[in-house]
Amino acid sequence: MAKMKNNHTQDHIQIIYDDLTSATKFECGKGFACIIDFAGEKILFDLGGDFEKFIHNCNQLAIDLNLINHVVISHRHWDHCAGLDSLITNLAANCQIILPSSFRNNIVTNNRNIRYIDHGSLNVIHPSVFTLGLKSRWWGIPIIEQVLILQHHKGLIILTGCAHAGIMQIVNKIEQSFKDQIYLLIGGFHLSYHSKAKITTLINRLNSKEIAQVAPCHCTSIKGRQLFKSLFHNRVYDVGSGTEIML
Ligand SMILES: [Zn+2]
Ligand SMILES: [Zn+2]
Repeated sequence: MAKMKNNHTQDHIQIIYDDLTSATKFECGKGFACIIDFAGEKILFDLGGDFEKFIHNCNQLAIDLNLINHVVISHRHWDHCAGLDSLITNLAANCQIILPSSFRNNIVTNNRNIRYIDHGSLNVIHPSVFTLGLKSRWWGIPIIEQVLILQHHKGLIILTGCAHAGIMQIVNKIEQSFKDQIYLLIGGFHLSYHSKAKITTLINRLNSKEIAQVAPCHCTSIKGRQLFKSLFHNRVYDVGSGTEIML
């Protein structure tokens, strides 16, 4: 008997939480969270800003938290890590949790599988999965943020939470560590406070790097998302809670 091809065996990214939604059955709110099926691993990247909404969307998407192998939290801002302690208690015992070192001493749960990363380091999570720690400031307060990097056969897939260090600086830093072209840049690009002219210059610079596809979410802002559409045309994903991106 011919086997039915299951879409979900193909590598893909499912947006769990975003400022916008792809359908009314999903909740949305300030923040970002997605789950990635890649190289046989299930990786949760960020948690969004409201744990109840996060769980609601996980249920709508039939996501089993017990099957997650790695949890990567970008940074310690509420819109990326709401309910982290509750989440940890719902994970499988062998799930690895990778947090920026700013979470140290702020996690209530006593879980031996927590790994803290520092800024300036490229961390191997799995043979083709990495995080890069970056230091920046937000309203004068230092932040350590990690970005997630997947080494896919089509090119690099880069996921950012808020990109506080600057999306261009992040891309430049990653290019210093990897020879691969960038296939997909996805996440919050932190452009809410930038003028239209500044965003346009930035998008043109990203475009010149021949990034195949972009999926601007969260703090990229509505204005930023529209500008990406007008400059990257059909290479932009329209993203909201529930959106699925096949890799
Ligand atoms: Zn954010
Ligand atoms: Zn932030």
